[in-house]
Amino acid sequence: MEGEPIVGRSQGDLERLFERVALQHGATVLRGHRVVALEQDEEEATLTLDGPDGPSRLRADYVVGADGARSLVREQTGITYEEHLPRTQAVLGLVDLDDPYAAPPGWTVTERGWTVIGPNPHGPSRVAAFDFAGPRPDRHTPLTLTELQATVSRIAGRDIPMRNARFLDRFSDYSRLVHTYRSGRVLLAGDAAHVHFPVGGQGLNLGLQDAVNLAWRLAHHLQGWPSANLLDDYTVERRPPAARTIDNTRAQLALMTPGAAHDPLRALFTDLLRNPAVSRQLGDMISDQDVRLPGSPGQSPWTGAFLPNIPLLVDGRRIGAVNLPRSGRIQLLLLDPATAADLEKAAAPWQKAVDVVHAEAEIPLPFTALLLRPDGYLAWTGDGPAADGRELERVLDSLLGRRVPAP
Ligand SMILES: Cc1cc2nc3c(=O)[nH]c(=O)nc-3n(C[C@H](O)[C@H](O)[C@H](O)COP(=O)(O)OP(=O)(O)OC[C@H]3O[C@@H](n4cnc5c(N)ncnc54)[C@H](O)[C@@H]3O)c2cc1C
Repeated sequence: MEGEPIVGRSQGDLERLFERVALQHGATVLRGHRVVALEQDEEEATLTLDGPDGPSRLRADYVVGADGARSLVREQTGITYEEHLPRTQAVLGLVDLDDPYAAPPGWTVTERGWTVIGPNPHGPSRVAAFDFAGPRPDRHTPLTLTELQATVSRIAGRDIPMRNARFLDRFSDYSRLVHTYRSGRVLLAGDAAHVHFPVGGQGLNLGLQDAVNLAWRLAHHLQGWPSANLLDDYTVERRPPAARTIDNTRAQLALMTPGAAHDPLRALFTDLLRNPAVSRQLGDMISDQDVRLPGSPGQSPWTGAFLPNIPLLVDGRRIGAVNLPRSGRIQLLLLDPATAADLEKAAAPWQKAVDVVHAEAEIPLPFTALLLRPDGYLAWTGDGPAADGRELERVLDSLLGRRVPAP
């Protein structure tokens, strides 16, 4: 259902939820179709598909390539990228362990690498190993149960028998980041734009944030809002968090390097993590909650941040700001009756795109008005009597531009 929390749900479950919502909004989902070619010109983009009824073509104003790490859409646009070649290989399986109680539980480092085992005496266990002997030259060869068992056992230093593989996969610490997320009428999102070692479980979150950033931009562009920033700023805003994630996964891999030479580094970080401030900083980084959108110098420190969950009174009802009804539109939240009328007037040319919400803050705040983007970021905050309609107009002009009124 729309509005359901998405935290802590599996990727498969999320995909089913997103599909349901997309269908409710009139999307068409074509299962069993593979994109085999993409062309674009000034007017449109055309996809060639291979489907159950043979080849077909689809024309569109824009194409979003969310087709994963081996993205054909990325390849076809010729978008270039930077990469870091792999240093390790990893194997992963869902298997029955012959003796779940004898397997080393959790993350275990040895001289050769790491085993990561979630022993389950009542069913299949998740078993992984990170092998620092070097990358596999033939990393596209499918993993077998025999190879999984051999690798896990070699790294653990003893035999760990297993059987009945339900799932087997291999991956590496290869990373890639595209130089731009846009080529004309084609935009990239998710693993198509960035891949990295999956430590910290950050890839899906990063891709979802690409999608929510891009969705409102594309929607407003298609509704005729003329600001070139709408599509151009997608790369400006989403590439830096991806670059930072790639860096933090590389740092984590450096910390994971087995052997006595790296033990003092691990001990130092273990100590640092006992400091709640360090732990919070790293948590905010891994979850991307500390992302600040690039902005103009001198703006309030709140502008460009993710909306904090301010307790509000709206129409006499208590509500956390993150639970404000989401219309997919930009919201102008007015918290001070003294400045509300001026700000509402300033936003009037954008009334087709901006919902005005009058509210009362239940705690003291360093601002009295804010402009909230549909992706949850604050495009502008205004402070007390100084909350300035001209500043708000400048921000809306830059964000959306002005539509020429219909004659
Ligand atoms: C071992 C491992 C563990 C991970 N653990 C986590 C974790 O705990 N948390 C986390 O956040 N992330 C994790 N990740 C990363 C996460 O899985 C990815 O970041 C995420 O799946 C990317 O989503 P995506 O939609 O961009 O790409 P994908 O999930 O790869 O989806 C791409 C889709 O496009 C389709 N497609 C591809 N080519 C075509 C084509 N030519 N035509 C039509 N369709 C096409 C594919 O079939 C697929 O359905 C992990 C990754 C790995 C390898």
